[in-house]
Amino acid sequence: MQKGQIGVTTENIFPVIKKFLYSDHEIFLRELVSNAIDATQKLKTLASFGEFKGELGEMNVSVSIDKEAGTLTVSDHGIGMTAEDIDKYINQIAFSGAEEFLNKYKDNANAIIGHFGLGFYSAFMVAKKVEIRSLSYKEGAEAVLWQCDGSPEYTMEATEKSTRGTDIVLYLDDDNKEFLEQSRIDTLLKKYCRFLPVPVVSGKVQEWKDGKYVDTDKDKVINDTEPTWTKKPSELTDEDYRKFYHDLYPGQEDPLFWIHLNVDYPFTLTGILFFPKIKSNLEIRKDRIQLYCNQVFVTDSVEGVVPEFMMLLQGVIDSPDIPLNVSRSYLQSDTAVKKISGYITKKVASRLDELFKENRQDFESKWDDIKIFIEYGMLTDEKFCEAAMKFTLLRDTEGKYFTLEEYRTLVEASQTDKDGNVVYIYATDPTAQFNYINTANEKGYNVLLMDGQLDGHFISMLESKIEKTRFVRVDSDVAENLIPKEDKKDSGLTPDQISLLTPLFRSQVPEVDKADFLVSFESLDPAANPILITQNEYMRRMKDMAATQPGMSFYAELPDNYNLIVNTSQPVIKKILEEAQEALGGKITPINEAIDKANERITSLRAEIKDNKPSDEQQAEEKTLMDEIEGKRKEKDDIIKDYASDRPLVKQVIDIALLANGLLRGRDLSEFIKRSVAML
Ligand code: ADP
Repeated sequence: MQKGQIGVTTENIFPVIKKFLYSDHEIFLRELVSNAIDATQKLKTLASFGEFKGELGEMNVSVSIDKEAGTLTVSDHGIGMTAEDIDKYINQIAFSGAEEFLNKYKDNANAIIGHFGLGFYSAFMVAKKVEIRSLSYKEGAEAVLWQCDGSPEYTMEATEKSTRGTDIVLYLDDDNKEFLEQSRIDTLLKKYCRFLPVPVVSGKVQEWKDGKYVDTDKDKVINDTEPTWTKKPSELTDEDYRKFYHDLYPGQEDPLFWIHLNVDYPFTLTGILFFPKIKSNLEIRKDRIQLYCNQVFVTDSVEGVVPEFMMLLQGVIDSPDIPLNVSRSYLQSDTAVKKISGYITKKVASRLDELFKENRQDFESKWDDIKIFIEYGMLTDEKFCEAAMKFTLLRDTEGKYFTLEEYRTLVEASQTDKDGNVVYIYATDPTAQFNYINTANEKGYNVLLMDGQLDGHFISMLESKIEKTRFVRVDSDVAENLIPKEDKKDSGLTPDQISLLTPLFRSQVPEVDKADFLVSFESLDPAANPILITQNEYMRRMKDMAATQPGMSFYAELPDNYNLIVNTSQPVIKKILEEAQEALGGKITPINEAIDKANERITSLRAEIKDNKPSDEQQAEEKTLMDEIEGKRKEKDDIIKDYASDRPLVKQVIDIALLANGLLRGRDLSEFIKRSVAML
């Protein structure tokens, strides 16, 4: 019998394993099964080169539980190990600079195991004693038994073993008895070993008998040894891809489409990415892309390996070139990983381009579902954005789709403003903005639908990418002014008329929660509505942004500012003006004259003072005059307000405008209805 100390250079490895690797301890199973698979594959390779001439026989890997003995055994029929092999591969562990490394990666068992090549030793995370029983494939080899109880001392001796290969026997410690449960082991194997290339047997297939499940004598194979991504795309049907998708993510709708990845140079990577139905939900998905290394599951947190926007996709990526056993920050700065990420981006973009070119109709029918993904990509990834400019679509309110280039050609002639900007008009809520859309369409303008979660940002991006382009929401101004073709027309009112009509209308606007109204006058189409309500594009965008961005709450708190635009060419408005002038002329004219007189006196007083310091009397007089004007104005406004409150027609035109914008509610709405009925 050979006795010895495991060749750890700096310190005892076992406390390290127990102490630092506690959190992820379940991965011991992945490590042991992977080793068993490797040993099996190696022997197959040797056989294929003619270096092993014996019977290969059954090449399964099996995981078995013995509850009574408290053991878990991983067995293979691979190359096996001689005593020399065990000495070389198990008893000597390169373990220099350990302390420093361990401190850095205390919380990452993957990193530690990978760094030191400790796959096998991870068994000590869960076992108080480990045995290796092995018979090498080499001719005349003797079976060996290696034992170690978690101290650096091991023993190694000859033993009896009739079958080729290795059994790793774990005597589980008391804290880890959970690994004696078949269901626990099945769950772990499903997680880590589901797509391993060699059949992994664990327990027996069960059948329903006499009211309960019982074991049959058939071995239960838990893995699919040839997962879909390892096959050639030419051998696969759409149905195969869909089935694979549903196996990975049960209970989901069919994917929209998929991309089969396959590279050998400058790195090796295979996989399939699926576009799920995302709709407008940007939450981090639970069912994420899974990362494999030679068919061994590694993780489903792929941050850093794929670009951020791809996190919305699902599927698998398998690459031996991704350094899996390192920390995330290292991963993100790794050049191989950067190349992989760049490759995936390029591949996804070119596949989308292909789909667009191959079948435009199909692409359009899926557009609403993939739009959020593409916009997210364009907003966050410059390269993807460049590629996507060719196939990204705009949808108008009639449900027609255009590429960016097509759309520009469509609207350029009719929607260029006086400064040469092409104005893209959009709606965010076709029901609420129905009236505006209609009016814009009547003017021959096309209106886009921009109701997606990211559309606000997307619009800003397009404005910066496409020269001479401006987006305006359809209700941001009256149709005439959405695309200013010439300087604004005068309202045609005198200052006295404006000072009469402003309080007349302003005083009759009902209180609307969190909204302010600014009355202004424009001479618009006589056939248009008497009053139009618009919302300034810039202010609205600031508020929209404030709603989603912290630190901008100042804007979010501001009331919504609406313009109440009175159409002075409209007959009803003309009538209101004439009637008001007639009814109020006698009362208001003397007040206006008094105000004018006071203003004149102020002007001449200021001329007297000029650059000199005003005397006390001069100051007092100016103040008296100002107060007088203020008082007169108030008197006048009260007269106008009094008058207006008796004019159902004034209220009516305002309420109609509010109603058209969904701003007339509750008591005001019911009064409007009563008034309308009375007018009939
Ligand atoms: P790694 O697998 O990263 O090399 P391990 O500690 O898991 O590190 O294994 C060390 C070595 O022990 C392996 O490279 C292999 O040569 C040998 N070994 C481990 N398990 C087996 C096995 N089941 N059959 C044959 N050889 C094995």
